[in-house]
Amino acid sequence: MATSALGLSYSIISSKNEEAYGQTVKFYELLGFDRVIGNHESEGETELQQTWLRLKGGKQTSSLIIKIVLNPEVTLHRQEPLTTDKDWGLEDTLFVLNVPHLQPIMHTLTERDIPFQETTTSILIQDPNNNVIALSSKLNPVSEQPQQQLQEQRRKKIGILTSGGDASGMNACVRATVLYGISKGCDVYAVYEGYQGLVDGGDYIKKMDWRSVTGYLSVGGTSIGTARCMPFKTREGRLKAAENLIKNGIDSLIVCGGDGSLTGADVFRSEWGGLVAELFKTKRITEEEATIFQHLTIVGLVGSIDNDMSSTDITIGAVTSLHRICEAVDSVDTTALSHSRAFVIEVMGRHCGWLALMAGIATGADFVFIPERPPAEEDWETAMCNVAKRHRELGKRKTIIIVAEGALDKHLNPIKVDHIKDILSDRLGLDTRVTILGHTQRGGSPCAFDRILGTVQSVAAVDAVLASTPDKPSPMIGMNNNKVTTKPLMDAVKLTHEVAKAIESRNFERAMELRDPQFLDEYKVFNVTTILDDNSIELPDHQRLRIAILHIGAPAGGMNSATRAAVRYALNRGHTVYGVANGFSGLVRGCFEQLNWMDVDGWTTCGGSYLGTNRAVPGKDVDMGMVAYRLQKMNIQAVMLVGGFEAYASLVEIDKVRYEYPSLCIPMCLIPATISNNVPGTDFSLGCDTSLNVIVSASDAIVQSAQSSRRRVFVIEVQGGRSGFLAVEGGLAVGACAIYIPEEGIDLPRLQGDVQFLKGLYDTDDPQKSEGRVILRTESVSKTYTTKVISEILEDEGGARFDSRTAVLGHIQQGNTPSPLDRIRASRLAIHSIEFFEKHTRVALDKQQDAVELATGEESIAVIGLCGAEVHAKSIKTLLPTTDMKNRKPHHDWWHRDRALVDILSGRSYYSCIE
Ligand code: ADP
Repeated sequence: MATSALGLSYSIISSKNEEAYGQTVKFYELLGFDRVIGNHESEGETELQQTWLRLKGGKQTSSLIIKIVLNPEVTLHRQEPLTTDKDWGLEDTLFVLNVPHLQPIMHTLTERDIPFQETTTSILIQDPNNNVIALSSKLNPVSEQPQQQLQEQRRKKIGILTSGGDASGMNACVRATVLYGISKGCDVYAVYEGYQGLVDGGDYIKKMDWRSVTGYLSVGGTSIGTARCMPFKTREGRLKAAENLIKNGIDSLIVCGGDGSLTGADVFRSEWGGLVAELFKTKRITEEEATIFQHLTIVGLVGSIDNDMSSTDITIGAVTSLHRICEAVDSVDTTALSHSRAFVIEVMGRHCGWLALMAGIATGADFVFIPERPPAEEDWETAMCNVAKRHRELGKRKTIIIVAEGALDKHLNPIKVDHIKDILSDRLGLDTRVTILGHTQRGGSPCAFDRILGTVQSVAAVDAVLASTPDKPSPMIGMNNNKVTTKPLMDAVKLTHEVAKAIESRNFERAMELRDPQFLDEYKVFNVTTILDDNSIELPDHQRLRIAILHIGAPAGGMNSATRAAVRYALNRGHTVYGVANGFSGLVRGCFEQLNWMDVDGWTTCGGSYLGTNRAVPGKDVDMGMVAYRLQKMNIQAVMLVGGFEAYASLVEIDKVRYEYPSLCIPMCLIPATISNNVPGTDFSLGCDTSLNVIVSASDAIVQSAQSSRRRVFVIEVQGGRSGFLAVEGGLAVGACAIYIPEEGIDLPRLQGDVQFLKGLYDTDDPQKSEGRVILRTESVSKTYTTKVISEILEDEGGARFDSRTAVLGHIQQGNTPSPLDRIRASRLAIHSIEFFEKHTRVALDKQQDAVELATGEESIAVIGLCGAEVHAKSIKTLLPTTDMKNRKPHHDWWHRDRALVDILSGRSYYSCIE
């Protein structure tokens, strides 16, 4: 066996004369080997002397390479073939080949009368040079040598580059690709400055090690640089790029960028064969290189702040950008309010209105303009003024209009901020200002969501590299319904380009369709909650409901946003809404207050609970009869709870006895809101994203403080009841080196292991550097191993290597201002809740207009939750068997899939290998 200069191995088989050489090539072709580039047997004497072959087929053998050479000087191991009466398997020089399937080979050999012997796991044959070959479809002790050889051959060299417009979370991609790639036995190279680095080569391509990406998670933009590269758009540029990849031994490329970058990636892969052939022909690469680098694996990650890629619900960087926009609009809001001004705010999005629409929902803007859905009215100026005027008449002191930079009217004329400003000033006399947010939207430090998204998608990208075969199209890693997906890259790019075309041809329906599925839902949410409708969606009198809203349990970001959206939509439908102060304990005291349009103005941006919240559960802490009495007295026809596990338990209790009380036979729903994210029936509760962001910023600050002066391990205590959600997802977002969660508990061996791991980490650190590290511990994980105790153990054990401190985040995790995602989720769930009430009361009310028992079906008491990106109502009856009532959580949590990643990316297995 030989090893090439590139570190890849192949086997050499020598033939003594031309006849044997020809027979040998044919013989191995019969076994399933294919000739590969570089075989030039007809092109002159010197080139007659070798043929490269590659075994195709099963995954495990896909890269097995042999070189057959004509060498008259060779001394053959055996001059004559072995006779069939001998056991060929006893020969001491077996050449073992792993093939995908033995059966077809046996068939071929029999057909051609080539003798072979069978063992239990292999067949034995002799090649024309009298070498005994053992063919096996299983990796077994006999095949130890080829197994090592295969592993070496399969060692992937992955390049990662970031390209096009920068997006927050690209660094999470680089970090996870490097760490996970290394943990999978690959070599990972960073290509600096996007495609420009690939074209320029040299120092722009650097091998990364575990430490190269320290600190990357919290840094916005991309630390390996990005560029717009014109040369890569030319074949000459791509030829240079291919040469640089091959010279560095890189056979796989992960590209993180927008649709332009991913188009470039696909062009590169589709031309690869031609580029390699040309490089070989012009002697820029060797025959061996041309053979080995026949295929390029490309995997795309979508880094784009616009969320403009089809086939994925969300792109890396979009949510961070939304954070910056909402912060800006929230700030402008206060000055607008003080001066009673109007603000016209331009946000990014040339072909995509995602940022504008989401910002509109999250900040409660009065109007949004997006490219995919121009205003329906010919005279949109008047329509906008009417809305602003109506809002002012209702008592609003501010007007906020959000405009995507690519906003259009229905004739494709651009809608520009200055024009809107003039209209508002001239027609309504409003003191109007324009704010163009510009590059602040690129993001800065990534929010928790983008860190997690970048991390899990990059892990999937490395897995896709390892699973790739030449016949598979290049994949793009996406996210659909909270699941990481792999789809053909080119299909996604094509669909994305279709949006622009659909807009150009004024096919706006199609443009909306091509967006992620919830875009349309969110568009509706904005319209029905933000614009006071002119009675066009009002229900007939007899279908109008009296709805009560209660907040239950600890406050969580988004409770107020949900209430605001529910009230506004309900009012537009003609319902009457009552806010109940302090949950069920307020309800039994009769604390109902009617809520009107302006009562909830501004609530979307406010954390905590304006209604007041309480943990009392009916039937346990307050009398069920009293609850029924109050609802009956107020003639309440639907109840919306916003809260955590106590709210869920309340519905469970009500569900048990509702048939005893006619007034409880009404639709009731729960919008899950708790930072612990432990309510069954939803992937995400309101508040949990806000909380993750608090943990991320607190942890960043803590690590920074240590980096300035100390080698220190912080044990950070997070909330979460008996759910490890915050520790697991927070751990992924901050790059924690350990997490302790209630689902696993803590014991001494675990602590000892972690102490050893930390000692190893600090021993291998640069002695000149101080390094802060973070452990996240869920508050309820252990009564014995408290946050303080763990920290003291670490302090003692760390000795001179490191010290330890604690940080208990406590109630700040409830957040001050809800995150944009929590606000948007709240609004969507609220609209679906009102629709749920209408659906379950319609039949009874149509039959009898003053019916009391409006909804008796078991599906009329449900959790309205997020199943991925979709909203679903799941009845208490169906959820109960999936609930661990004792531990107050679902039996199965989706986020457990991320648990192992926290450890892998902490370097646990990597450092134990190099110790
Ligand atoms: P984004 O990736 O953010 O959409 P661009 O459209 O500017 O950003 O593309 C980034 C880079 O991708 C370009 O500078 C160019 O190097 C490369 N690229 C874009 N389109 C192509 C293409 N059709 N062929 C080759 N390379 C391309």
